[in-house]
Amino acid sequence: YITIKGLHKKFGETTVLTEIDMQINKGEFITLLGPSGCGKSTILRILAGLTESSAGTIQIDGKNMLGVEPKERQVGMVFQSYALFPNMTVYENVAFGLRMQKVAPAELDERVQEMLAIVRLTEKANFYPKELSGGQQQRVALARAVIVRPKVLLLDEPLSALDAQIRKKLQVDLRNIQQQLGMTMILVTHDQEEAMAISDRIFVMNNGMIEQSGAPTEIYTSPKSEFVANFIGHYN
Ligand code: ATP
Ligand code: MG
Repeated sequence: YITIKGLHKKFGETTVLTEIDMQINKGEFITLLGPSGCGKSTILRILAGLTESSAGTIQIDGKNMLGVEPKERQVGMVFQSYALFPNMTVYENVAFGLRMQKVAPAELDERVQEMLAIVRLTEKANFYPKELSGGQQQRVALARAVIVRPKVLLLDEPLSALDAQIRKKLQVDLRNIQQQLGMTMILVTHDQEEAMAISDRIFVMNNGMIEQSGAPTEIYTSPKSEFVANFIGHYN
């Protein structure tokens, strides 16, 4: 469903991604796990079309992404710092993408209500972002990204600014939404526990390369290198 082949990225003289190959199935929950600076965000930005690759190919749903504008890619993104529209209510923030698509009012309302229910924010529909907690704001950001049904949703440390308890709850929410909608998601995180808890497969990255990929239990029980063993073990 998503095929990345021979992806390279240089910023000036500095190579930040070397020979990235990834094959992702439709409806999979993938996590990119690795230390700071290993290139996780760069991969997401290239997938979203926000950064150009230096070499390699990307296909999403059978379509080559080379030269395709971000808007045309049907790729959604959620970041750590939720950039909600401060002057719009929760309802209007979630409705935004559908308004852009000129979805008819009745269908729009139905889809927004449905999405608000999924993220448990029906009661907050008329609140403004500043009247919400961090976790609630992040659920709005998630709803806003998911409602337009992107082919893949990219999540760059969306939970890392939240405190541990809220983060655990949101991990469950995220996984539920992903399974309910059968949506393909790629999550970037530093947090080994988070990766273990919610992914179908984990790609462990180091220094611009993929060290190992596999199901959480496989990575945990049979780390292929000392780096993977240390990185996974570090958080226990
Ligand atoms: P973190 O976990 O800290 O977010 P990351 O794995 O997401 O790290 P990236 O943001 O992908 O890391 O950055 C990978 C490398 O690329 C870093 O060494 C960074 O300095 C470099 N880099 C990223 N963006 C640029 C840029 N626009 N210009 C130059 N170098 C960049
Ligand atoms: Mg990053």
